[in-house]
Amino acid sequence: MTDHPYFVTRLECGMTGEVLPVGVLHNLSPKGYPIVVRYDLAGVQRVVSKDALRERPQDMWRFRELLPVRHGENIVSLGETWTPLVPLPRLQKKLGGGEILVKDEGRLPTGSFKTRGLAMAVSMAKELGVRKIAMPTNGNAGAALAAYATRAGIESIVLCPDDTPVVNMAETALQGARLWRVNGLINDCGKIVGSGKEAGGWFDFSTLKEPYRIEGKKTMGLELAEQLGWDVPDVILYPTGGGTGLIGMWKAFSELEAIGWLRRKPRMVAVQATGCAPIVRAWQAGARHAELFANAHTVAAGIRVPAAIGDFLILDAVRESGGFAIAIDDDAIDAARTEVGGQEGLLLCPEGAATYAAYVKALAEGQIRKDERVMLFNCATGLKYPMPEPTAKLNKDAPIDHARL
Ligand SMILES: *Cc1c(COP(=O)(O)O)cnc(C)c1O
Repeated sequence: MTDHPYFVTRLECGMTGEVLPVGVLHNLSPKGYPIVVRYDLAGVQRVVSKDALRERPQDMWRFRELLPVRHGENIVSLGETWTPLVPLPRLQKKLGGGEILVKDEGRLPTGSFKTRGLAMAVSMAKELGVRKIAMPTNGNAGAALAAYATRAGIESIVLCPDDTPVVNMAETALQGARLWRVNGLINDCGKIVGSGKEAGGWFDFSTLKEPYRIEGKKTMGLELAEQLGWDVPDVILYPTGGGTGLIGMWKAFSELEAIGWLRRKPRMVAVQATGCAPIVRAWQAGARHAELFANAHTVAAGIRVPAAIGDFLILDAVRESGGFAIAIDDDAIDAARTEVGGQEGLLLCPEGAATYAAYVKALAEGQIRKDERVMLFNCATGLKYPMPEPTAKLNKDAPIDHARL
């Protein structure tokens, strides 16, 4: 892809604001917090127009002036197309609330929105000369890393909990990573990646332990705002694990507001599973950091993150936006998946289904008003997840009552 003017001015510690140099590799800041990328937004405002943007391909790279890759030749791509906003009109009518839009991220390469973060982070790793990457994952991130690292000619090593969905492990291995199943949770996998940096000779790609996955996930916010004619829904419900997407979208909205392209920002809602809800607990307690959530379990593997290093960034965004955090149990997640598939023909992943269940609950309890337009995130294709096995059998050799089929 071609070069565009480049506007990154500095990197900053997400907690202290300490300024860090651009153009060199970073994991966490010296104080141990995630690093965020800052741009010359006045410069961006001067050179880009909405009209100019309209001429560009509809993919995640289109707003290059707000992205960290300096040279177009370093962009690693498998076709990161815009994802559609699918309305749920029947369920809207049934619930009597405002418009419900699902941003269906399952359409992306590797079948999940992890592609946005990893395509960006791998492109930056390529630009900065990384040869080998290791990462812990609950599934989709590992698959996305595998695909993009292989595409870039970078070695990848992926560690996942032993009970990660088989399809995620298989796709990760098939896309060229070395995959290891670990008898623990994602934070245990993360410890192995962190402690093996020297001996393994790899770069640590754990969630928020490098600065660029946020920038990749930020494109969800840039994209949905443009799709809505440079506006936002009233409320965004986001299934929150490590929180990269929620943090990234909030950053997108703030940057768009700063360049004068957005007049308002949405309320951000962090949706978690009751079996793993560290952010919900912290939000309820009014805390800025979340405590480790013991014995984490949920069918929604993508949000089974018992401790998030960017917890304060998630909680800050939720609070600043006037949003809230809400937990949904696994039965409600399964029921929501059946409901949206059966009523609207849209198969969600469990994490996506959790956002629908959260909406229903929040609408009933008055946390979301009936006149508010909401956006749910279906973060991965429903096809990646276990589904109940159909039980109805038909015997071709017996008489068939066609009217009853
Ligand atoms: C990773 C993931 C999430 C959580 O996203 P974060 O931005 O890391 O909080 C939700 N759902 C699915 C399917 C995922 O793969």
